[in-house]
Amino acid sequence: MQRRQAIVLLAAALVPRPAPAFASDHRLALHSFSEALMGTTFSIRCYHADGALAQQAAKAAFLAASAINAVASDYIADSEVLSLSKAAPGTAMRVTPLLFSLLAEARGVAELTDGAFDPTLGPLTRLWRESRRRGRLPDAPELAAARAACGWAHLLLDPASNSVTLSKPGMRLDLGGIAKGQAADAMARILEQHGIERSCVTAGGDVRAAAPPPERAGWSIALHASAQEMDAAPMVLTNAAVSTSGDLHQSIEIGTARYSHIIDPTTGLGLTRQVSACVVAPTATLSDALATACCVTDPAKVRDLARGWGVGELRLAQA
Ligand code: AMP
Ligand code: MG
Repeated sequence: MQRRQAIVLLAAALVPRPAPAFASDHRLALHSFSEALMGTTFSIRCYHADGALAQQAAKAAFLAASAINAVASDYIADSEVLSLSKAAPGTAMRVTPLLFSLLAEARGVAELTDGAFDPTLGPLTRLWRESRRRGRLPDAPELAAARAACGWAHLLLDPASNSVTLSKPGMRLDLGGIAKGQAADAMARILEQHGIERSCVTAGGDVRAAAPPPERAGWSIALHASAQEMDAAPMVLTNAAVSTSGDLHQSIEIGTARYSHIIDPTTGLGLTRQVSACVVAPTATLSDALATACCVTDPAKVRDLARGWGVGELRLAQA
């Protein structure tokens, strides 16, 4: 019951909407906005005749992304998501509806990908950051203890009471592989609520496109998942999302190996294969999490698992 409800919530958030029909409007002008958020740059490009309205909508959209960051960041010591780690194991904690919905989506993708995407890898991502600081890998007992404290099936959600239980000792959540996508989706929704239908939100490597610019087939998106893709032709996207993930942006070198910031749940360490993935999906929440999952596990498996979720193009580059 518990698991089914989480996946239903996710499905409701991911249903793609049909593209609206537009009359050509020559008063439309391009408006661009950007802000630093979640350790990267978030930007909005949108078309509207009313520049003041566009500005107001962009402000509200950035506020929504900041609100997600404030509850879901594991870099903010007193964020709501980190406060869950301080509760005694097995204690149900009531959370805000915002955090509950973010966790329900994250758990849904964990279930969908059989744990390749796992929002409970916090103990391991914390060790990865310590390794980066210390310049050495964790020792075997540290690694074993962190691995024992992970597992998405131990993240229990009760929609009736909006409460969350971490059922094992030492658990810690990390939404870093999905939160930017969730923020991009939230921003796209806010823009639409303000009457801005032609928009494209970029949150680092995650892009959510709505209706296209006037007279164009879609938004032009430059993909930078791998060195090879630096030269690739831009992707044209409408009413969909695309995410890239991989070790190009964040990795640590220890000895002769390079460890990506993406953790392989089967080893507890950063991936040592040089890999990057690009996923097109109906929402940035899904594309973000699936791009991370595709780096961890066989993308063909992800494609099979995600069948029926509207996931389109799915690419992997491996060195
Ligand atoms: P992304 O850049 O979207 O692939 O997300 C990478 C971030 O997600 C990392 O910095 C971690 O915070 C978190 N993460 C790492 N490995 C995983 C994983 N296997 N599943 C879910 N989140 C992960
Ligand atoms: Mg991701």
